[in-house]
Amino acid sequence: MEQVKCLIIGSGPAGYTAAIYASRAGLKPVLYSGLQPGGQLTTTTEVENFPGYPQGVDGNQMMMDLREQALRFGSDIRDGSISRFSLTQNNPELSGNFILTAENGTEIEAQTVIIATGASAKYLGLADEEKYRGMGVCACATCDGFFYRKRTVAVVGGGDTACEDALYLSHLAKKVYLIVRKPYLRASKVMQQRVFEAENIEILFEHNTIGLFGEDGVEGAHLVKRKDEADEQMVDIAIDGFFLAIGHHPNSELFKDVVATDDNGFIKTLADRPCVLDKEGNVIPGLYAAGDVTDPVYRQAIVAAASGCKAAIEAERHLAGTM
Ligand code: NDP
Repeated sequence: MEQVKCLIIGSGPAGYTAAIYASRAGLKPVLYSGLQPGGQLTTTTEVENFPGYPQGVDGNQMMMDLREQALRFGSDIRDGSISRFSLTQNNPELSGNFILTAENGTEIEAQTVIIATGASAKYLGLADEEKYRGMGVCACATCDGFFYRKRTVAVVGGGDTACEDALYLSHLAKKVYLIVRKPYLRASKVMQQRVFEAENIEILFEHNTIGLFGEDGVEGAHLVKRKDEADEQMVDIAIDGFFLAIGHHPNSELFKDVVATDDNGFIKTLADRPCVLDKEGNVIPGLYAAGDVTDPVYRQAIVAAASGCKAAIEAERHLAGTM
């Protein structure tokens, strides 16, 4: 079995930052990139709020730069996911704390593990989303927007992601509907302003999607306009693409038997440190969580990067026996 001092799962800002710090600390970290190498920022366009980039930076580019930086200090970055995770505290023959299996079958014994698995896009849960997946239904505007040039699309959601996606699509598509369930947007003021100013974005406030229709792909959506129980109105819109931007759920499934999570699946850590708690509320020595998998509040790249840094420092101190 392969033995590593520090295993990092995930390759978003948290995972790569942890890898940079852990490799500079001489921990020779092994990082598994996961299903979406580079994480959520690879599905965005410009990142305008990461300090140090006055003109903004392309999300993909930023993640490639972080990867490059981690490689420069000797991180062992591998493709693929970890498919099994367990504690070894009941097996005295093993010296590491954790046993992990990669999807290619590689078995690893790790003394410390940093969980940086991020979060994945949510869907509404409609049967039609499954039916038309890849045929007009998508949760990544920057991945698939290109296919909707001069067409009509809808984006669901009222947060920053929805506004960003609507704006991105407005430069490609003929028309963009923004379907918002509340009578207002939740997005930051600057994003709201840009959406309000875009001539080809029509905001449908207080609308919910109840189904999609079309022969060989999405041709339209059935919506309900609802102010209250007494005031409901069915509306159909003709669209070629249906984009979800209603938030994300944490990728914590692999760890759920071992670690404590909140009601939404976010991994629980100490309030001021990234040390993961077990179901009784005790710290699991050597196990850390960083980034969106543990952050239901801020969900920002800069916050994820900072928590990846903290996790690597904790791992280093744990291995040095100082904590
Ligand atoms: P948010 O949780 O902020 O917003 C989700 C949106 O989807 C809300 O408008 C919510 O409605 C709506 N929604 C949720 N579930 C449903 C549903 N079942 N049906 C219809 N609508 C639904 O997620 P985001 O992904 O937009 O943003 C996450 C974080 O990332 C935020 O902190 C945001 O600021 C940040 N971000 C920053 C960016 C930037 O600065 N460039 C870009 C993108 C994200 P409701 O309001 O009614 O709950």
